[in-house]
Amino acid sequence: MRNVIDQVPKSLAIMGGTFDPIHYGHLVTAEAVRYEFNIDQVLFMPTGHPPHKSQENITHSEHRYLMTVLATATNSHFNVSRLEIDRKGITYTIDTIKDLIRIYGENVELYFITGADALSHIFTWKDAEELLKMCTFVAVTRPEYHKEELIEKVEIIRNYYQSKIHFLEVPALSISSTNIRERVKKGMPIKYLLPESVENYIYKFKLYL
Ligand code: ATP
Ligand code: MG
Repeated sequence: MRNVIDQVPKSLAIMGGTFDPIHYGHLVTAEAVRYEFNIDQVLFMPTGHPPHKSQENITHSEHRYLMTVLATATNSHFNVSRLEIDRKGITYTIDTIKDLIRIYGENVELYFITGADALSHIFTWKDAEELLKMCTFVAVTRPEYHKEELIEKVEIIRNYYQSKIHFLEVPALSISSTNIRERVKKGMPIKYLLPESVENYIYKFKLYL
């Protein structure tokens, strides 16, 4: 199922995340990558059951999915995929990439966006080598993470795996979902950290209390 996208994009960037909740850091990053690499569509991919995050503390996938839909509704280049949240068992990125190739065809040019923190774990990912050959990686900066370290890591991965991986500096927004959850719990404002539609959704369903 190709979801709501009826035109086959030539290039597609996957923006994976827990999105618990999605915030402006994610949106600014995705838009910066889309523009820089002239990408047709960014597909936001809320995670299902990631091997490295404990499930108990993660908000139900349906809430995370809907918040991601609300946040991306105003950008015609953004879409949200249910692939990972609908898949049973532990989620591995390699399975998602293989599914996307099945859905969009062999010719689609795939990009995978990863933040400075996520990139550090790449060597522990399942079938990392195959994964790095199947799509172009874009490693983006994130406040609180050293830019120079990220550039170094990108170099190491590029040389070690002979893979296509780019570094991109994106506008620095010191926002994290963890911080937003903490702020809601403490009754502090979260306005201007995430789209208003997502803020209203959080209050409507009393998330993060
Ligand atoms: P949490 O605090 O729950 O881990 P998070 O804010 O880190 O949430 P994730 O859903 O874990 O958000 O992140 C998804 C992707 O977005 C990761 O690749 C992460 O590095 C990137 N990302 C998250 N926040 C930012 C930000 N402010 N700037 C740049 N990249 C970000
Ligand atoms: Mg995170």
